[in-house]
Amino acid sequence: MLLSSADQKFQTEIRQSLTEMLSEELRSASHKRSSLWQDLESSMAWQRILNSKGWAAPDWPKEYGGTGWTLNQRYIFSKECVRAKAPALIPMSLRMCGPMLIGHGSAEQKAHYLPRILSGDDIWCQGYSEPGSGSDLASLSTMAVSDGDDYIVNGTKIWTSYAQHANMMFALVRTSKEGKQQQGISFLLIDMNTPGITVKPIINIAGAHELNQVFFDDVRVPKINRVAEENEGWTVAKYLLEFERFSMGSIELRRTLDRVEKLAAETVVDGKLLSNDVAFKQKFAALSIETMVLEASEQRVLSKLSAGKRPGAASSLQKLQHSELVQRADELGVDVLGYYAAPHQPEALDIGTNVVPVGPENGITFMPMYLSNRMKTIAGGSSEVLRNVAAKTILRL
Ligand SMILES: Cc1cc2nc3c(=O)[nH]c(=O)nc-3n(C[C@H](O)[C@H](O)[C@H](O)COP(=O)(O)OP(=O)(O)OC[C@H]3O[C@@H](n4cnc5c(N)ncnc54)[C@H](O)[C@@H]3O)c2cc1C
Repeated sequence: MLLSSADQKFQTEIRQSLTEMLSEELRSASHKRSSLWQDLESSMAWQRILNSKGWAAPDWPKEYGGTGWTLNQRYIFSKECVRAKAPALIPMSLRMCGPMLIGHGSAEQKAHYLPRILSGDDIWCQGYSEPGSGSDLASLSTMAVSDGDDYIVNGTKIWTSYAQHANMMFALVRTSKEGKQQQGISFLLIDMNTPGITVKPIINIAGAHELNQVFFDDVRVPKINRVAEENEGWTVAKYLLEFERFSMGSIELRRTLDRVEKLAAETVVDGKLLSNDVAFKQKFAALSIETMVLEASEQRVLSKLSAGKRPGAASSLQKLQHSELVQRADELGVDVLGYYAAPHQPEALDIGTNVVPVGPENGITFMPMYLSNRMKTIAGGSSEVLRNVAAKTILRL
């Protein structure tokens, strides 16, 4: 990206600040991820440092704690964070719950929860999916029955990322069985410490504990914790999904491609450097070009956001591109490692720690990410479902 002199100055200042703000410990912690999310400790430590500078949520409107930076400045900031090896931030609070509350929360909910999201005092998880209700989310059956000023919630949520760490959940519940499925859904903010909630771990293919099943047994939730009107939760849910699907994935993807390139430049097969191999070069070039296309898609969504518009179906397309590219990039990394990928299968990992082990001599390993990222084409909307969205809303089929 060609930068104006003002943006170049901004970039230099950000680079300088990040150098001062990031300890060596935090930089090395940025590798501590075997799956979808950064490990919680380093992520929250970094979020608190960012928040002390007012930089925890650059995309939020300034009045709620955003930075007021331009679109380009936010993009530069994200790139510089990856370049400086900053730990990734957990999106459920900052990227999902926050924008949802800004768009649909009451004045009291915004005043109470938004500062607590920025500071990390509250950690949120997302209670949408249920056994049997994933892609067909509107069929969900966790019931919330009115009881005076409260709802009594019964049912279960599944694949709930980081529920074991969260003290709050934003959840979809059924408040009516009348009419169309979508019409009987409400949106609740649930305190995870309420009696009747049980969180059970689900260990993923890479041996990490990030997912859970959450059970609700006569859980009392005050009605003031409902977002929007009763039975109007589906509108809020759809709004939030647009934010969930959008990410600046190309930045992370570039980092993976850099690692693949570095590794290929150090790997000799049959006396030839792998980076000179035609088959490798073709695959690598295709991935690099498609990453540039992804960057352009991200810019499109960002420009909508900065004009105060919703991301719309563009965020579904961008998630589709990103998740499939990530899987191909990991696959190329595993191909390059060849035999050396094997020792990093889950059996060789310290089960449940979420920590990526050190790789072969050069410290590069792809196996845990390769395995974990299989879920990228499922979580937050599967590729098939996203293609359906594109067919319906963009191609009008
Ligand atoms: C790592 C991970 C983290 C997650 N975190 C969370 C979380 O924090 N909170 C939360 O609520 N949920 C979470 N999820 C759940 C996720 O949103 C669902 O897995 C996803 O929506 C798919 O639903 P499902 O698993 O029920 O699969 P299904 O909906 O049963 O889909 C099974 C298969 O059928 C295909 N399919 C389904 N419907 C159609 C259709 N109409 N046309 C064509 N093909 C179709 C799908 O593409 C898929 O291949 C997470 C999932 C993963 C993998």
